[in-house]
Amino acid sequence: MKMVNVSLRGLGFILITLLLLFPFWANSTSNPESYMNVIITAGTSAVLTISLNICMGYGGLLSLAHTGMQMMGGYAIGLAMLNYEIDPWIGILIAALVSTIFSVLMILISLRATYLYFGMITLAANLIAMEGFRNALGNDGLISGLYLPAFRGEDLTIRQFYYVTLAILVIAYVVQRNTVLSGFGRATMALRESTDTASALGVSPSVQRVKIFAIAGGLAGVAGAITAMQGGFMAPEIGDLNGGLIFFVGLFIGGVGTLFGPLAGVGLIAAIDFQIRFAGAYRTLILGTILLLCMMVLPRGIVGTFRASKMGSPQELADEPTIVEEEIITTPTSASGSVAIEAINIVKHFGGIKAVDGVSISILSGRVHGIIGPNGSGKSTLISCITRYHSLTDGEVKLFGAEMPKSPHRVARAGVTRVFQIPHLFERVSVRDNVLTGMYLHERYSWIEAVLRLPRYLSSTRAEERQAAVLLRVVGLGRKGEIAAANLSHGQKRLLEIVRAVSARPKVLILDEPATGLTQSELGNLHNLILFLKNEGLAVVLIEHNVDFLMGLADIVTVLESGKVIAEAPPEEVRNDPRVVEAYLGRADISELMGE
Ligand code: ADP
Ligand code: MG
Repeated sequence: MKMVNVSLRGLGFILITLLLLFPFWANSTSNPESYMNVIITAGTSAVLTISLNICMGYGGLLSLAHTGMQMMGGYAIGLAMLNYEIDPWIGILIAALVSTIFSVLMILISLRATYLYFGMITLAANLIAMEGFRNALGNDGLISGLYLPAFRGEDLTIRQFYYVTLAILVIAYVVQRNTVLSGFGRATMALRESTDTASALGVSPSVQRVKIFAIAGGLAGVAGAITAMQGGFMAPEIGDLNGGLIFFVGLFIGGVGTLFGPLAGVGLIAAIDFQIRFAGAYRTLILGTILLLCMMVLPRGIVGTFRASKMGSPQELADEPTIVEEEIITTPTSASGSVAIEAINIVKHFGGIKAVDGVSISILSGRVHGIIGPNGSGKSTLISCITRYHSLTDGEVKLFGAEMPKSPHRVARAGVTRVFQIPHLFERVSVRDNVLTGMYLHERYSWIEAVLRLPRYLSSTRAEERQAAVLLRVVGLGRKGEIAAANLSHGQKRLLEIVRAVSARPKVLILDEPATGLTQSELGNLHNLILFLKNEGLAVVLIEHNVDFLMGLADIVTVLESGKVIAEAPPEEVRNDPRVVEAYLGRADISELMGE
């Protein structure tokens, strides 16, 4: 990871130096302006690709409206200049604002749309906007007579405007980087993974979508303003999706969802495109072939492949867990033994299937509450009902005496964190970043503070990183912080996901079959962690097939069968309960059937 940073930083440094010196070289050619215009256009494409990377690469929102956003920004600054004689510098801000509004409107009408459907809505919005300008402005929507901004009363030269574009590109890159490397960015990636994952961490999927798209829209609007000033005109054709293909091609070649990918990709495409500028009709063919080859050989793009290779470096040995539990930060909860969750007569039917059929259960603070039952007995469904992932057919859920909030992310915010039966990790990001994601709810800095790296962001992040290191040590992952989560063993991934949940400092922690696939020593670490949390006053719900593990921890065990509670008692009693034994097909000892 360190290596990656150093080499990428070096590369960035070289790139910036070359770009700064470029006008001096261009001046020695016969047509310096055309060379500088080529780079300004490429820089604009890079800003748009960064914007696309934020919403599609990191946020998982397919946007087919980036050229539309660019056009929107272009018209905003153009009309402001022509009709109101607004200064072009101010016009850039207006362009950002108008394009942001356009993006927010698009996202608001399609909040619940799935990936492709959402893309189609943006495509339609793009077409409507293009036709709107074409018809509303006359002259086929063409506006001209736009000009470059002035500095101290003198119009900028193309060379000065080149440097302005470069500065904007650097700002766009920094906005992207600082957004991604913050709680905001981690929430965004959680959303890309799935709505459920994001909700479980307390992220409101709709609000987060709106924010991501607003940021992408703002950046694209600025790019549109550059386009308008550089060309001196704006036309609906700028919004044509064809022109936006270069952003997609550049992003895929560079690496979707990587910080440096948009720059590497667009830079490469621009260089190749420049070399083959006289190839005429063959140009598209050549670019298409390059994209195809790249997708086949490097599906993660140049930067993505590079990063994956570094983060996949040989695994280090697991270190002995140092028990530093006193350093784990938890949320003080109500008195041990008081009721945390009260579920009353929960019923959940899926069509004819009575998955949960009238279950009442009380979860107490400072206790480990085990839930067992054969496969399909409704354990996971019960949890999904309690945490509001499912609507109830009937019944009622209370949290600390009040009604349980109605949506999953509000449940998480109220202090109930669940770990799903199926792993929901962020495989491509580092182990440490996975843990940091869990701390979303406790981050007290705003997006702006993160982008500008203000003190509140810095101190909060330092504290979070310390806590992440402590938690990882507790489960024996202390030396794996920098590797990609994908490189962990199955058991380690389970532990990581539990640690992420613990880092949210919940009052109630719900674990759905956490012990599956864990080695003996990993089981030991998990046992100690759960015991520690219980003693801190958390209510822990433990669904588990590993009976020995469960019996060693649980204070009380609820047994489900076909959606009904057939027993609820301390572990030793449950083991010998005839109804339980019968439910497990008459085996003498349930652990024979359930134990692993
Ligand atoms: P357990 O976690 O105890 O193994 P589940 O809660 O996953 O059991 O499932 C209980 C029953 O509900 C099963 O018969 C399962 O097939 C059914 N079920 C669970 N989720 C759904 C769903 N989303 N749609 C339809 N049936 C479901
Ligand atoms: Mg289950």
